Amino acid sequence: MTPPEILTAPGNDRRTRDLPHAGRERRRGDRPKPRPLAPPQRDDRDTVVEFRGVSKLYGPGGIGLERATFAVRRQEMVFLVGPTGSGKSTIMRLLIKELEPTDGRIRVAGRDLAEITHKKVPYYRRNVGVVFQDFKLLPTRTVYDNIAYALQVTGASRKQIRATLPDILRLTGLSTKLHNYPHQLSGGEQQRVAVARAFASHPPLLLADEPTGNLDPETSIGIMQLLYRINRAGTTVIVASHDNEMVDRMRRRVIELKRGRIVRDEASGFYGAREENTDELGARLKQEAT
Ligand code: ADP
Ligand code: MG
Repeated sequence: MTPPEILTAPGNDRRTRDLPHAGRERRRGDRPKPRPLAPPQRDDRDTVVEFRGVSKLYGPGGIGLERATFAVRRQEMVFLVGPTGSGKSTIMRLLIKELEPTDGRIRVAGRDLAEITHKKVPYYRRNVGVVFQDFKLLPTRTVYDNIAYALQVTGASRKQIRATLPDILRLTGLSTKLHNYPHQLSGGEQQRVAVARAFASHPPLLLADEPTGNLDPETSIGIMQLLYRINRAGTTVIVASHDNEMVDRMRRRVIELKRGRIVRDEASGFYGAREENTDELGARLKQEAT
């Protein structure tokens, strides 16, 4: 069966449409129960991520997140900012269901994460690409194999993988590095591999937790440009970063956290202005970097 429409990236992207999708793995009986009430409003269908009063306590006194409420719409690019310990990674880990909230409700593409059983979590995660600060590549595999492996676990055939990989390598600027091992790459290149791997199956949602935390400013710009390009191709992107200057220069929506609480949630003043293409963004980021 086809994946729930809402979990797929927009259908006008040919590459996205032709790729194996997580939802394909769903078997009979996995089907969500039809809702007896009115069909969801358009607004609901446009909501990819919804946190409602979400708290996460890590034992007594350890506040990860406190009554966080926000929604992220399809195709948005949103930055989570705040000092170390403010709750950014907690949000990411809740979103991949690595953590369970102490209170509140989290929905992703309309699906209540609390209702996803332990057994179904791997299927759910296929819809969410994740990039970490420390890359987390397989050290004994080449660039090609690192990315191929990610596709393989989503159920893609060798043939599909062979057909898909050149595109993703091109998109991430890794075409000449496919036979290299991670230790033969710079930090920026390793992070590109991690992004390629996270995005290889074109998940509708991509999370990046401090993706530039280990990179120098110029390399960071390249990674931000890449995430921006992925976002412009139709994927909802959430980036956690404590590089406030870089985040400001991105001119996107910013959700600011302090000690687990959302203290600011604002669209950039540039919202609705003419969109930059990826090259324009890169040129401006370089120019504005001090
Ligand atoms: P950030 O990613 O913004 O640095 P985190 O979400 O990692 O913040 O952490 C938020 C708060 O939760 C911090 O006070 C942190 O110490 C606490 N915390 C995170 N993970 C754990 C854990 N596994 N056990 C106890 N406390 C934790
Ligand atoms: Mg963190």
